[in-house]
Amino acid sequence: MAEIRVEHLRKEFGDFVAVQDSTFTVEDGSFLALLGPSGCGKTTTLRMIAGLELPTGGAIRLAGEDVTYRRASERDIAFVFQLFALYPHMNVRANIGFPLLAQGVPKAEIKRRVEETAKLLQIDHILDRPVSGLAGGDRQRVALGRAIVRRPKCFLMDEPLGTLDAEFREVMVRELRELHNRIHATTVYVTHDQIEAMAMADKIAVMNHGVVEQFGTPQEIYDRPASMYVADFIGSPPMNFIRFNGGLPRGARIARIGVAAIEMPELREEVAPGDLALGVRPEHVRLVDSSPLRGAIYGSEYLGTNQIVTVETEGGLVRARLPADHGYTIGEPVGLAFKSERLSLFEARSGRAIRSALHEGELRREARHG
Ligand code: ATP
Repeated sequence: MAEIRVEHLRKEFGDFVAVQDSTFTVEDGSFLALLGPSGCGKTTTLRMIAGLELPTGGAIRLAGEDVTYRRASERDIAFVFQLFALYPHMNVRANIGFPLLAQGVPKAEIKRRVEETAKLLQIDHILDRPVSGLAGGDRQRVALGRAIVRRPKCFLMDEPLGTLDAEFREVMVRELRELHNRIHATTVYVTHDQIEAMAMADKIAVMNHGVVEQFGTPQEIYDRPASMYVADFIGSPPMNFIRFNGGLPRGARIARIGVAAIEMPELREEVAPGDLALGVRPEHVRLVDSSPLRGAIYGSEYLGTNQIVTVETEGGLVRARLPADHGYTIGEPVGLAFKSERLSLFEARSGRAIRSALHEGELRREARHG
């Protein structure tokens, strides 16, 4: 196992910059998700770590060693692709054991390691079956087995669950995380699916147009997004943005939106006058008759355990996650109230989050006391 360190990594394809100045560390034994929409540079980053693509600039260190210009075969990394190719004429046992056979490992040792791997993946009962008749989930497990059996320093996975249907994906997300908890191999996992990333990763790097916009734990990224892009990409429904115009001194605790004075975490920087956006997660919105921040019910989606109620306000649509036991009528006037200590404030033009008490870890202290 090994730490992966990426320093000022850059990749250009002609005039196009696919990855710009990425710097992050995947700690030894931890699980990193590279998350972002199609084309943001996730796969290119992964391919550079694997040694399948040469960086234009920057460095890659594996267990402290500079491997930037080393070939893939010299990096002791296992790559699991989305469209994994199993050898169709071989059975499960031979497919899993193939990398060891290619390395010249003695037969008895191959048998032992294949069986140990199959047990770990709970496919020991199908070891002697041909792979051609296997269901998607089992094929994926065989592909994983073939990667694990080598005991590489690191695993790199590029949307490995992309071809599975939703039900299998959920099962495999759980299994992959459980597998990681057992073998603790340093893992980099590419996905465009925020739910997968949140469920599996120790840390997430959220990418946008070749740039890592935020690197942090799932909770940090969800609770304290560094930008409107991150706040919008993570969460379903995403964070609400209530736009307003203003400037605020350092230390401010109130944002004035129309006639409403909204309490928020104390600002740790001065905000020049301009377009701002208050960010609030749907679960931190309540509907309260007495609030001066007014709106009208726009629609609702019943989700069984709760409902998403959309309210039209002067600052835009606001979604609230509310108990499902109350019905609302379209057009009904309502007041909005927010959980003040969980609000984010953004510069609307750049999308950057304004530093506040929320970002300085005070939220966690409050949570422990509360
Ligand atoms: P996806 O999930 O669609 O693969 P991604 O975030 O993994 O998205 P990359 O595959 O890393 O994105 O691609 C980033 C950008 O670089 C894309 O715009 C892509 O078209 C471009 N790109 C990737 N490989 C090459 C190449 N060999 N030549 C030219 N452009 C490339």
